[in-house]
Amino acid sequence: MLNERLKRIEKEGSFSLSIKMAKEYREAHPDAEIVSLGIGDVSFPVSEVITEAMKKACSDLSSPGTFQGYGAYWGIESLRKAIAENDYGTLDISAEEIYVGDGTKTDSTSILELFDPSCRILVGDPSYPIYRNGAYALSRDVSEAECDENFKMLVPKEHYDIIYICSPCNPVGNAYTRDELRSWVDYASREHAVIIYDGVYRDFIRSEGVPRSIYEIPGSKSCAIELYSYSKSASFSGTRCSYMVLPKEFGKEVHALWRERTMNRFNGASYVAQKGAEASYLPEAKEQIRKNIECYRDNALLLKKTFLSAGFGVVGGTDSPYLFVTKPGTDCMTLFSFFLEELQIITVPGSAFGKRGKESLRISALGSRKDTEEACRRIGGIL
Ligand code: PLP
Repeated sequence: MLNERLKRIEKEGSFSLSIKMAKEYREAHPDAEIVSLGIGDVSFPVSEVITEAMKKACSDLSSPGTFQGYGAYWGIESLRKAIAENDYGTLDISAEEIYVGDGTKTDSTSILELFDPSCRILVGDPSYPIYRNGAYALSRDVSEAECDENFKMLVPKEHYDIIYICSPCNPVGNAYTRDELRSWVDYASREHAVIIYDGVYRDFIRSEGVPRSIYEIPGSKSCAIELYSYSKSASFSGTRCSYMVLPKEFGKEVHALWRERTMNRFNGASYVAQKGAEASYLPEAKEQIRKNIECYRDNALLLKKTFLSAGFGVVGGTDSPYLFVTKPGTDCMTLFSFFLEELQIITVPGSAFGKRGKESLRISALGSRKDTEEACRRIGGIL
């Protein structure tokens, strides 16, 4: 007997359809100079300071005195300490509250194993599709939150046990303010619910008053689990390293259960990737990451200006590398085809992220400056 919920993933997949259409268009027009604003992947390589640290980690593996084997189920101690110090210096999170993983795609789904299958799960519409599809893979159902006109989730009246919040958000690109997060923490505390807070894009925040961590909100440590990945900041999308924070306020029993679960389900992230992640906190690496993010952020501002001038409704692009651009009354597949066929620009149809994205496209600023400028020139031409 198959997991019937897995079949829902394909049914909801306008993402696969858009990839197929782009592939067919490329084959039919081999000379077309196609530019992609669709990719969620980074375009800068991993900084050399980090790759040097990974080379050194490889050498460690080849000598008996420094060889690393099984055992670091929740991450090597030096990395967990570096995370606590660098990412949570003033927020009082210790290495014991950090669990290193091999990517937030994995972590955002596997955390559900801590909770009973009967828990009611709430996600945004639109949202990062893995929250929904990962839950299906674990045979769980999800509900979609009502959202405001900027696609921000509204605190529900009814009870949910697990709430996914992504801030800054993929796909819509906006970030929750301190007050908005406070109302979610109040809800979770009142309802004894748990917030799974995905902060993968926190390094892109530039607005005043937008928290970088949910733990900046009083009361959140007993109801929120925070996720972070090195994929977008340190360009680890192929290297694979992430972490989650399970604060001690959840209690000893929860930690013991999660440790037991992890020892039985995961043998730890790659030692080499973890040493690379640790090196991302070196001053030279931090500086390189800062410059890369600055470049993506400038791409985002350029795209935002261009889409606004072209008459689109635009959300995001200030605190995240994504923009959600909308043409009310136009179906997203029509918009997708227009960009592909008339402008040779690849985008992602908004319905790939949920039904409320049906009149939108997700635009990524993670491409190169050259491609971003070329795309803006072409979009400018339709004014
Ligand atoms: N969370 C969000 C919101 C993302 O957009 C992505 C990747 O695009 C991930 C998690 C996955 O990150 P990772 O590469 O660590 O699996």
